Amino acid sequence: MFIFSGTKKHKLKRTAYSQDYCNACEKLVIAEKWTWKSWFHLFWLSLIPLGSRFQWICSECKRDTNGRYQSGLFSKLVINIVLLALVVLMFQPEAVELSEHILVLRISAVCLSLGCLLWLFRHKKSQSKVEIRQSIPLLQHSKCHYCQGELRVGTEIHCGACQLQVYRKI
Ligand SMILES: [Zn+2]
Ligand SMILES: [Zn+2]
Repeated sequence: MFIFSGTKKHKLKRTAYSQDYCNACEKLVIAEKWTWKSWFHLFWLSLIPLGSRFQWICSECKRDTNGRYQSGLFSKLVINIVLLALVVLMFQPEAVELSEHILVLRISAVCLSLGCLLWLFRHKKSQSKVEIRQSIPLLQHSKCHYCQGELRVGTEIHCGACQLQVYRKI
């Protein structure tokens, strides 16, 4: 029997915004904090409340600003090791019997491996997301980004008109 169950988002709404670096579009953007109540549901019935959840979404590309969009260092290392093993295999004396185009295969394997090695080294040079985030200036606007309402500064900063919370920095 087919049972349709999972989690559902209730009362999904934008509750805050700030300035942040977006991992997806790789630039400084307005990040929106979307909050919702998560419920476990069976068919059309919401049964068990799972509490509040939130996610920071880029206002420009609509993706998670903290998501991972680049291959991690570990996967790059694995790919490099696999390619290196391929090169070693290609240069085994027995490989000559496998194909008459062994020279082309060897050159391709070496080029591919070198390309990936370069890809690996460039990874190390790229600035860490943590460093980029630390250098983000505080949001200085005195008006709400969305409705241009006056911002009220207390223990938290709120827009007096649309009630959005404003983080000077995430
Ligand atoms: Zn983005
Ligand atoms: Zn507002």
